[in-house]
Amino acid sequence: MEKAWTSLEAVLNKKKKNGSEMTKDSWGRVRDELQQEIGRDAFNNWIKPLELIGEENGVARFSVPTSFLGDWVARNYGDRILQGFAKGGCSIERLDFSVPARPRQANEGRPAPRQAARSGRGEPSQGDRGNRAREIDLPGSPLDARFTFDSFVVGKPNELAHAAARRVAEGGAVTFNPLFLYGGVGLGKTHLMHAIAWEVQKRQPDARVLYLSAEQFMYRFVQSLRFKDMMGFKEMFRSVDVLMVDDVQFIAGKESTQDEFFHTFNALVDQNKQIVISADRAPGEIDGLEERIRSRLQWGLVVDLHPTDYELRLGILQSKSEIQAGFYPDVRVADGVLEFLAHRISTNVRVLEGALTRLYAFASLVGREVTLEVAQECLADILRASDRKVTIDEIIRKVADHYNLRLSDMLSPRRARSVARPRQVAMFLAKTLTSKSLPEIGRRFGGRDHTTVIHAVRKIEELRAIDCQIAEDVELLRRMLEA
Ligand code: ADP
Ligand code: MG
Repeated sequence: MEKAWTSLEAVLNKKKKNGSEMTKDSWGRVRDELQQEIGRDAFNNWIKPLELIGEENGVARFSVPTSFLGDWVARNYGDRILQGFAKGGCSIERLDFSVPARPRQANEGRPAPRQAARSGRGEPSQGDRGNRAREIDLPGSPLDARFTFDSFVVGKPNELAHAAARRVAEGGAVTFNPLFLYGGVGLGKTHLMHAIAWEVQKRQPDARVLYLSAEQFMYRFVQSLRFKDMMGFKEMFRSVDVLMVDDVQFIAGKESTQDEFFHTFNALVDQNKQIVISADRAPGEIDGLEERIRSRLQWGLVVDLHPTDYELRLGILQSKSEIQAGFYPDVRVADGVLEFLAHRISTNVRVLEGALTRLYAFASLVGREVTLEVAQECLADILRASDRKVTIDEIIRKVADHYNLRLSDMLSPRRARSVARPRQVAMFLAKTLTSKSLPEIGRRFGGRDHTTVIHAVRKIEELRAIDCQIAEDVELLRRMLEA
């Protein structure tokens, strides 16, 4: 009896002691799961910086580096985190994210040089105003007047990039440095950078904003080497408040430019100056970039612009067609034309814009209303080019053919290796060849969960490296689909 009692007590004690440990363990598992689900970039951006402080009365408290990050996590991952806790047997009902009283900063311990160095992002002080700005001319690229936040259409694929860009433009404390924007061509990277520059200039007329392409950065660098004016070069770059370098993939493989870029970068970060960088790929995927630069770039916030979806394309078309209507007041566009274009034209916004411009010019010249027929005729070449887009249906059909399976097998719940593997290959191809989201792909494969798709993609990636039959199959299918 006594023995039974002691052991019960032990169990109870253990349980009590383990209340918060359990939360910690459970958090560890939730983190692991999230990493699988949302991918490395998103995980590093949002989940990794969270620090579980403890649990009290059903509230799990986290410390976060910025309130922006806390808000974002609460909105986008809050439910998922709660679910995870519940699954792990923790009765957490609410999450609390707070910023520690003293912000963690790169230059902790030193006085913030920012305040001293300039009038700050808040009230412009009249004293030294203009002096500094006129002392050193900035060699930036001209800004496109059309690329503002007002003209930027926000949708799911660019929501995060837009929010981050806005945050940077609004100034205040430098919360993430650098802001690294990446994505394919024509998805709005340059547009967002110009928008930041305009906005900063509007809010703080005396702030020194320098926007330039990586190519120009290199050109300046080479020039200053040639004319032996490295001091001038350094001084100029280090005198800016906001530095934006577009298309940094350009300096990959160019060692001395990278070197100088790295020094400039560090000097500015040390002074708490904001840096915004864009590239066509994630920092980790840019070949020929030095490791220290790569990791430094990942310190800040890395956000990608996803390929556009139908809704975003339609939104952009509607907004741009209002602008066109200003130039061509006589042109009428029939109902359904914009929807047709949003549906048929690829993910690149530049192509979409070009199509619309041509359509208006054509309609105005020939004095016709823009109907579906007119659009098809006038944009035949663009439509044909976009037609080559691979669809999920096509992928499923081709893969089923290749492995001698029925279409229904591909979508069925059967898990036998002989159908499961081809299905995984098809999911992998759907993820890599189309711009469909994971949940969408899951749905198209017989209503599967997005985690199944993630698993499939990982599995095939793994197998491709060790199983040459799979590697060959995938390669062959890819070529057939893209032909
Ligand atoms: P990137 O630099 O990513 O290659 P850009 O910023 O040059 O792309 O964008 C290409 C064109 O598409 C620009 O004319 C830009 O204004 C337009 N564009 C891209 N995304 C949007 C958007 N979300 N809203 C409005 N216009 C956009
Ligand atoms: Mg660009």
